Amino acid sequence: MTQEQWGALQAGLEKTLGQNNFKTWIKPLEFGGMDGSVAVIHVPTNFLGTYVSQNYGDLLLNKIAAINSDVRRIQFKVANGIQPQTRPRAAAEPAQSNGDSLVSAPLDRRFTFDTFVVGKPNELAHAAARRVAEGGPVTFNPLFLYGGVGLGKTHLMHAIAWELTQRNPHLSVLYLSAEQFMYRFVQALRDRRMMDFKELFRSVDVLMVDDVQFIAGKDSTQEEFFHTFNALVDQNKQIIISADRAPDEIKDLENRIRSRLQSGLVVDLHPTDYELRLGILQSKVGTQKAQYPDLEIDDGVLEFLAHRISTNVRVLEGALTRLFAFASLVGKPINLELTQDCLADVLRASDRKISIEEIQRKVADHYNIRLSDIIGPKRLRAFARPRQVAMYLCKQMTSRSLPEIGRRFGGRDHTTVMHGVRRIEELRMQDGQMDEDLELLRRALEA
Ligand code: ADP
Ligand code: MG
Repeated sequence: MTQEQWGALQAGLEKTLGQNNFKTWIKPLEFGGMDGSVAVIHVPTNFLGTYVSQNYGDLLLNKIAAINSDVRRIQFKVANGIQPQTRPRAAAEPAQSNGDSLVSAPLDRRFTFDTFVVGKPNELAHAAARRVAEGGPVTFNPLFLYGGVGLGKTHLMHAIAWELTQRNPHLSVLYLSAEQFMYRFVQALRDRRMMDFKELFRSVDVLMVDDVQFIAGKDSTQEEFFHTFNALVDQNKQIIISADRAPDEIKDLENRIRSRLQSGLVVDLHPTDYELRLGILQSKVGTQKAQYPDLEIDDGVLEFLAHRISTNVRVLEGALTRLFAFASLVGKPINLELTQDCLADVLRASDRKISIEEIQRKVADHYNIRLSDIIGPKRLRAFARPRQVAMYLCKQMTSRSLPEIGRRFGGRDHTTVMHGVRRIEELRMQDGQMDEDLELLRRALEA
C-alpha cells in the first residue's frame, strides 16, 4: 500500500464514520509502511491506538486488505517510537501488538500469577489456570472458572494470557468479555462482515471469554458463540471461560451450550476465608508501603481488616488503598483507631453482609448438593432438609422477612418458610449432629 492509497482510504472513512469520528480517531493515524504481512500504523498516543484498535481495527484491516490482500494484520505503534509498554510483547494490548490482538481486550499488567495469592478457596482454580498457562497439549477443554464477584476470575484469566504469550510470543491469544463478543458480533452483522468475524475468531490459538453469563438469553449471540466454540474445540484450541455461576445455574442458556461448557474442567473460586484475605492484604501492603515509605502500620491492622471485610477482594484492596492515602493526608500512623475512623462506611457495610444467596451457597456446599436444588421445587428429603436449614439460617442471620425469604427460595410461600424454620428449631434440640452442622455453617458464614 502506498501513502496515496492510504490517503484515499482515510478520506473514504470520513464519509463512513462521520466528520467527528474521523477527526478524532482516523485523521491522526499515519501509515508507517509494511512489515511483511503487517501494516504498521502510527498513532500519536497509546490511548488512541487502543481505542482505534478496538473500535475500528476490523474496519481498517478490511479496507487495507482490499487494497493489498497480503495484509493479515495491523500493528499500531506510538509515533515517537517510544513503546508504551516495557513487556517484550504484550500480545493482548492492541496499541503495540500484532493483528491477533486486533480484537483482544487489553490485559491488566498487574494481573499475573506472581501477584495472585493462593489459598484454600482458590487453589484448585489456580492450579487449573497454571496448567492451562503452561500451554502444553490441551487436556481439558474448556476450562470453566466460576465464582462470585471480585474473587479473582479476571485476574486468573489475564495471568493465563500473560503467561502463555510470554512462553510463546507467536501464540495468538484472544481475551475478551462476553459483552465484547456480542458487541463485535452485532457489529459484524450490521456491517455485513460475518465472514471476517468468523475467520478472526476461528483463527486464534487460545480463546478466553470472561463473564459468559452475559450471553444468556441473547439467542443469536449464543448461537454464534456455540459455533465459534465448536470450531475451536475441533481444532484442539484451548478455550477458557469464566462466569459468575456454574454452567447449570446460568438461566436462559441453551442446553447444548450448557453441556458444552460442562464438558471440560469446571472449577470454582470459593468465597475468601480469613487466611486468604490476610495473605492478600500482606501481599498488597508492600505496594502501598513503597508508595508511602514514611507511613507506619501497626501490627494487627491487617488482621482486623481481614476479619472484618469479608465481601470480596476488590473491596479489601480498595480499603487498603484508602487507608494509606488517608493516613498520609492526615500525617498519622496507621493504627486501629485510624482504620476504624477512615473505613467506617466500609466496615459498616461489611457488617450486615450475609446475603440469602451466600447462605444458600454455603448450605448447598455443605450438603454437597447444587444451589439449584436448594432453590428448586424438588421435595426429596436430600434437598428438602438442606433447604430448611438454609431457610432457618436466613431467618437467623439476615433481617429479611419470611415472605422475602420465601421468594428467594423459588417463590415459596411464607408459611413454608415458617414451617421449615420451626422444623429445624426442633431438630436442633434433638439432634446433636444438626446442632453441630448449624454451628459450623454459622461460623463459616461469619468468617
Ligand atoms: P472477578 O473477575 O472474579 O470479579 P477480579 O479478578 O477482577 O475478580 O478481582 C478483583 C480484584 O481482586 C483484582 O484487583 C484482583 O487483582 C484482586 N484479587 C482477587 N483475588 C486475588 C488473589 N487471590 N490474589 C491477589 N489479588 C486478588
Ligand atoms: Mg471479572
